[in-house]
Amino acid sequence: MSRATETYEVFALEYGRMERASRDFYLFFPDPHEGPRPIAYYLWVIRNAKRTIVVDLGFDKRSGDARGRVMLREPMAALGTIGVEPDAVETVIITHMHYDHAGHGPEFPNAEFIVQEREVAYCTGKPMRYPPLRRSFDIEHVTDMIRANFRGAVRFVDGDQEVAPGVSVHLIGGHSGGLQVVRVETDKGPLVIASDAAHFYDTVTEGNPFTIIVNLPEMCAGWERIFELGAEPGRVIPGHDPLVSELYPKHPDDAMSLVLSDGPVAETPWEAWKKGR
Ligand SMILES: [Zn+2]
Repeated sequence: MSRATETYEVFALEYGRMERASRDFYLFFPDPHEGPRPIAYYLWVIRNAKRTIVVDLGFDKRSGDARGRVMLREPMAALGTIGVEPDAVETVIITHMHYDHAGHGPEFPNAEFIVQEREVAYCTGKPMRYPPLRRSFDIEHVTDMIRANFRGAVRFVDGDQEVAPGVSVHLIGGHSGGLQVVRVETDKGPLVIASDAAHFYDTVTEGNPFTIIVNLPEMCAGWERIFELGAEPGRVIPGHDPLVSELYPKHPDDAMSLVLSDGPVAETPWEAWKKGR
């Protein structure tokens, strides 16, 4: 029995941007990366007339300040500019539990949080004993997820699963214990929010891994997997590349939000790269 698939609009909401040394972001350094590299911080919204799904919740001021991160605006305020009310959100997908993706949980009292079982096991387990492994996580965010679980508000996924009609999550791993990406049906075809399966376009085109790694074979396999979920290369969205803010049309109500589901306004690096292969 098949059920009618729904389609959605998909938005990226930028809330932070900064420049850091390239060596922070590319495993193989210095060649070819010298000097500063901009990074952008986003959360994403998937919406149609029936549902609003928020994908990741950004960092909060406390966890950002602790790491010297520059917030351009509060992620919660960003959601407000496109009319998303946290109280009314019933579904939040957390791609992974890193501090810049998993803040603000308590501001969604009516939401079910969808996360990979492997991710929660990782960020609550033995690996957190070790400083280099726990530095990307915020203990308050992890504790908030445990609290949500204790009230039955966490849906654990193990692998790939449809979580709403036309919306599915897919386990990648690699960058964290159980990183997942999100595939969404839109009027113009499927779209993939790759999140930190690919921080930047050139992470993939140059095959240069991001520096925070749990499992390198999984990370490299993820660079292929994000293109195997049925979306055109111009409809696969990296997690932190500031180019996304130039390549997709602006939301009419908010110049810092992009309407990803409309497709790119110029050729994206992944489109050019796939063409040239
Ligand atoms: Zn991230």
